[in-house]
Amino acid sequence: MTHKITLIPGDGIGREVAFAAVRCIEATGVDVEWEEALAGTEALEKTGEILPQATLDSIRRNKVALKGPITTPIGTGFRSVNVAIRQALELFACVRPAKSYAGIRSRFNDIDLVIIRENSEDLYMGIEFEQGKPETKALINQIGRETKKNIRSDSGISIKPISIFATQRIARFAFEYAIKNKRKKVTCVHKANIMKFTDGLFLNVAREVAQEYSGRVNFEEAIVDNMSMQLVVKPHKYDVLLLPNLYGDIISDLCAGLVGGLGVAPGANIGIDSAVFEAVHGSAPKYKGQNKVNPIAMILSGVLMLRYIKQDQAAERLENAVKQVIAEGKFLTYDLKVDPLDQTAVGTKEMADAIIRKIKG
Ligand code: NAD
Repeated sequence: MTHKITLIPGDGIGREVAFAAVRCIEATGVDVEWEEALAGTEALEKTGEILPQATLDSIRRNKVALKGPITTPIGTGFRSVNVAIRQALELFACVRPAKSYAGIRSRFNDIDLVIIRENSEDLYMGIEFEQGKPETKALINQIGRETKKNIRSDSGISIKPISIFATQRIARFAFEYAIKNKRKKVTCVHKANIMKFTDGLFLNVAREVAQEYSGRVNFEEAIVDNMSMQLVVKPHKYDVLLLPNLYGDIISDLCAGLVGGLGVAPGANIGIDSAVFEAVHGSAPKYKGQNKVNPIAMILSGVLMLRYIKQDQAAERLENAVKQVIAEGKFLTYDLKVDPLDQTAVGTKEMADAIIRKIKG
């Protein structure tokens, strides 16, 4: 069977890591017909649009996309193409595994955490009021009248909505994920002691959903600041983490740091009937075109994608090939070396070649 998949190479280092992943996926023998679609600075140059409608249509049609990172241009008024894609397609669940691979230098071994981040709400909705604008002043005055709290008149304001609907949806997703992947515990991360009506709602709804899964998956709660400390000290205590959007973003980078850095952290954005697979890292523009950065985060995103399209054996083979290359330590990019200036570090392409050799045995 041919799988038609949208390929968004992205910009910056996007093309290099995306095509490294494409070559590795193809080496598994899974029959993929890639439909290339533009987004980001390349799209802006070629079509005048940063996120062309044709790209969203392609993902809607194919239901699955592999996406390279995209630079968020400063000063265009566009917040983030990545956030726009997630919102337009209602990719409400962001899944980011943080897993140790033998051979990667990091503080801990045997970490196997999964971050489930709510992707549609919270401060990422982009509802913001710019400092000095008349509507911002009007809002400040209204809040002053209704709450008797004085927001300084030279403030900017960002709005943080968190709903029952979206929290139930992501909490159920986290518990279902736990069951499907034989995980034992979901930890809800929040700051409900301070933000009672947003994080408080998130926590209460998560508790209610946890009841539905009682006896099958354990549930616990952690305040986000304490969680940050606990993860750095005893990450093995945790299993699946359930978080609102902003904390999910921050904690997933922290967890990437626990297992060797952004170069090895994959991710998936999953909706009701479509999914986009992408690395946690960004477009690292300073490394663009240098054949230097680590393709593993993108390749492991491809592993998640293969599992999503029910190509489990191919996913296993690809992940095993990645494991072997890392464990052998011969074909590693600079970021996995003790000294980043190590002359034996290989490029993006050469690391992908080594992985392909392992797949082909
Ligand atoms: P970044 O992740 O692009 O890079 C930060 C640093 O991490 C790099 O300088 C590099 O040292 C390291 N790094 C990142 N990817 C690596 C890899 N594959 N191999 C080795 N080292 C790697 O973060 P940034 O510099 O904050 O963001 C750059 C741009 O990317 C911004 O415009 C940002 O908005 C965007 N961004 C996009 C996405 C996405 O497309 N999903 C995610 C995050 C950031």
